[in-house]
Amino acid sequence: MKQRCVPAAGCGDGIYDAAVIGAGLVGAAIAYGLGKSLAHVALLDEGDVAYRASRGNFGLVWVQSKGMGMASYGAWTLGAARLWPTLAAALLDETGVDVHLEQRGGLHVMLSEDEVRARVSFMKGLAAQPGMPAWGWRLLDRHEVADVLPGAGPDVAGAIWTDVDGAVDPLRLLRALHAAVSSGPVHYLPETPACSIAWGNGFFRVATPRGRIDARKVVMAAGLGNAALAAQVGLSMPVRPQRGQIIVLERSRPRLSVPLSTLRQMAEGTWLIGDSQQDAGLDDQSVGWDVLATLADRARRTLPALGQLNAVRAWSALRVMPRDGFPIYEQSALCPGAFVAACHSGVTLAAAHALKLAPMIAAGSLSQELAPFSTRRFHVQAS
Ligand SMILES: Cc1cc2nc3c(=O)[nH]c(=O)nc-3n(C[C@H](O)[C@H](O)[C@H](O)COP(=O)(O)OP(=O)(O)OC[C@H]3O[C@@H](n4cnc5c(N)ncnc54)[C@H](O)[C@@H]3O)c2cc1C
Repeated sequence: MKQRCVPAAGCGDGIYDAAVIGAGLVGAAIAYGLGKSLAHVALLDEGDVAYRASRGNFGLVWVQSKGMGMASYGAWTLGAARLWPTLAAALLDETGVDVHLEQRGGLHVMLSEDEVRARVSFMKGLAAQPGMPAWGWRLLDRHEVADVLPGAGPDVAGAIWTDVDGAVDPLRLLRALHAAVSSGPVHYLPETPACSIAWGNGFFRVATPRGRIDARKVVMAAGLGNAALAAQVGLSMPVRPQRGQIIVLERSRPRLSVPLSTLRQMAEGTWLIGDSQQDAGLDDQSVGWDVLATLADRARRTLPALGQLNAVRAWSALRVMPRDGFPIYEQSALCPGAFVAACHSGVTLAAAHALKLAPMIAAGSLSQELAPFSTRRFHVQAS
């Protein structure tokens, strides 16, 4: 098929400064950040058949479990959490959309003494790693938990408290990012999947069924779609789908002041129960009753009053899970100007993607801070 050029609104010589492939939370946050310094940015997205974690997640801005095995991920996550107020304020100012950011702390609740022992050992190991930032955590006993979580059930044996954790409304976040990019220098192109990427003469040519897009830089942020694209610019992208399920309970009066890692109350009063992790291939259509039953049972044991509320919805969605669980950010050595970004905590990291990663991409190189997130870590030979 002969390719024609997609009209580039206001794009001088017909070549964008950057094309971002994928308009989920990762791609939209990066495009938003690029739009602050580049004049012509294209943001391409697939059609509604796409697997999208960004429309089915839990919305936590979560620090307390991140970085075991890679302290720099703990530092990157903490940095993102600290940048979140800046991003939330900018989005409100530019779009009028309040993403409902709350960062008053968070709890990870344990339902037996065995769980307490295992979690405390995990937290001590996490904090003891060289290079791990100190953000402070505290083990609350069952009485202290009841102060933060009134009505906590008798099975609650303790909880880990940190004051760096929080949450946003993830659908409002996606909407705000899309609204912000649409009113700036970013040309949003829905229903425009990238089929292939070619490099030459100082720019990239992205082929789509609606024509071709030319750009000096290309950022692959296509979630599970990244693997096929990255290979075309000399990058590997070891990501797999990991299914998570969420139950929604009907709204009730506000009673949860901080989010738990597995339970939260939204601003309008509904409840989300979540945090399952399954390998289920690309199946995001079905929900597993056994998993839902476990989620519901743990939520009811945590807060017995939830047993009075009706479940109104449940869904599953696919996380974009790098092989070792840590983000991947890299520029291609073969085709400089081609970048990839993938992670499993795209809500938490959105502020870092918009305010730190995007400026690096705009400037043409990733800083040393991001060196640990290169795929070179997968190529180390065991001695
Ligand atoms: C159940 C669940 C709970 C979660 N909870 C949290 C949480 O509490 N906190 C947190 O930080 N994270 C959470 N996450 C993870 C978070 O949702 C993801 O990290 C984030 O949404 C990933 O965004 P993404 O843009 O990389 O991927 P996606 O949302 O999958 O978006 C990728 C986009 O790329 C597009 N695309 C694909 N291929 C192409 C192509 N060839 N051309 C053009 N476009 C393409 C698709 O259309 C899609 O819009 C959760 C995920 C799940 C599933």
